[in-house]
Order: sequence, then structure tokens, then C-alpha cells
Amino acid sequence: MTLYDEEALEKFRLSGQILRESREEMRGYVRENMSILEVCEKAEALICEKGGKPAFPCNVSIDEVAAHYTSPPGDTSRIPERSVVKVDMGVHIDGYVTDTAFTACFNSDYEIMTETAETALKAAIATIQADVSPSKIGSVIENTIKNRGFKPIQNLTGHSVGRYIVHAGKSIPNVNQISFGKLKAGELYAIEPFVTVHEAGGAVEDTAQKTIFRLVKTKSTKNPDAKQLLKFIEDNFRTLPFAERWLIGVLPEKRHREVFRELLATKAIMGYPVFVEVTRKTVTQAEHTLLVKEDGCTILT
Ligand code: MN
Ligand code: MN
Repeated sequence: MTLYDEEALEKFRLSGQILRESREEMRGYVRENMSILEVCEKAEALICEKGGKPAFPCNVSIDEVAAHYTSPPGDTSRIPERSVVKVDMGVHIDGYVTDTAFTACFNSDYEIMTETAETALKAAIATIQADVSPSKIGSVIENTIKNRGFKPIQNLTGHSVGRYIVHAGKSIPNVNQISFGKLKAGELYAIEPFVTVHEAGGAVEDTAQKTIFRLVKTKSTKNPDAKQLLKFIEDNFRTLPFAERWLIGVLPEKRHREVFRELLATKAIMGYPVFVEVTRKTVTQAEHTLLVKEDGCTILT
């Protein structure tokens, strides 16, 4: 059984190429004291200029924040001096999603920990081929990280990617844990080790803050403004994650805030909590999307 035909794979490849080029430009762009909103908008603009669409808002997660922070509307926060910044970006072409991340390290204390995320990602990728189990990959990631004196984040995982879906159902752990099933040729996965210091808890927890959202259901409101906002979301993002700042201008500014709150309260849309390391220790991350082959894999990003 083929999962994706050649036309779909070609779209995944193009998606990955656009994302790789955008990520490499972002590596040279992110600086201390830069506005976080500017970083998000730059990443998203690069993706669009190259002919892709953002598969989700650019995540800019700083120090102990591991994932899921993007600038809310009017964000005035800046990249702190001596911080460790995870930039996580996604592209889709006709819904075919690729996902990548890098860590910009402005603190020499965390340079080795930043390299370790990349090393663990490389080691994982070197083991990937058809019939490998997710637990084997998790164990390679965990051992690579621990051998360098660090700790993996145990409750964040890699994941299969699909069409109009970023987390497509199958997980790849970052630690050695029991898993069912094996990777199959033709499947696409994002592998993403997260690393923290040895003394840390090695897990993340939710915060109350939500900056990234997703459509849940469309037939839930009689309010015409809410209907209009939901239609914009459905037409532009379908089931992919979006940022509130992407909705600015759809409704008059005064109505927007109230209607957005109503959509959240009625569960027409849901928000993803910002993840923070449980002991508030710094986290690094690296991520690639790859296509599983019989005898190895192809990195798309
Ligand atoms: Mn990602
Ligand atoms: Mn991912």
C-alpha cells in the first residue's frame, strides 16, 4: 500500500525545501534584543516569499519555555540577552506539512546542550529505516543525550506528519519507552529531541498562556461576526494551527476580541498551552522532517 502518490511526495519535498531555505535564513537573522513579533513575522514572510504557506505560526520559545509560544497581537517582548531561543517553523504546500526547528544560543553555558540536540537528531536519523520501532529511536535519542551529561524531555515527542495535520497520530519518543508498531516505508515523520540539564525534571507542563489555536467545529454559532471569523479560519487554515495575529482585520478591532473569546468559550476553536520545563530549566531543540525508505530515510528539511 502506498501512503502517498508521487504527486503528494513531490509537494512534501517542495514544502521541505522551502522550509530548509527559510530556516537557514532565520539562523542568520535572530539576534538578542530583537522583537519576537519581528522574528515570527520574518519567518512567516520568508515561507510565503518562497511560495509556501506557514503550516503553523512560527514558535519562538525562550529558555525554560520549550514550545508553543508565538507572538500574540501587539507583542512587545524581545529576545533577552544571553537567552536560548528555539525557533520552530512549518510549511505546507497544498496541505502537505513539513516541520523543522533550530536553537539560537546566545549563552555560552548552553552551547554544548544546543549541539547535543543536533547530535541526538543526527543519531536518530542514522537509525531510521523501514521496520525500526519508535522505542529504538527513542532509546538512541535518550542515550545520545545522557552520554553527554544532559537529560531528554520525556513528554515531548516526534510525530508523523500528514495532509493538513501536523501531529498525524504516530509518535516518536525522545526516551526509551514501550511503543507499538514500526515505521513503514513511505511514512513521513518529524523527529525532535528536546534537551535540558541533568538536574532538571526532564519534562514539560502546561502554562495558562495560549498563543496558538486550531479550529474544532464550524457549526456552533448564530452570531454573524463569529460566523465570519470562523469562515475565515476554515478557508485559510482548515485544521492547521494559527495565531490570533493572523486574524487581525477580519472584524473591526472592537469586535474582534469579544468574538475571539466567544469562539474559545464555545469550543469552536481550541488553544495550545505554552509548554514550560517543570523545574524551569533551559531547554534546547532540533528538528527535521524525513521520509522513511526501505533502507534508510531522506531528510526533507
Ligand atoms: Mn516543530
Ligand atoms: Mn514537530
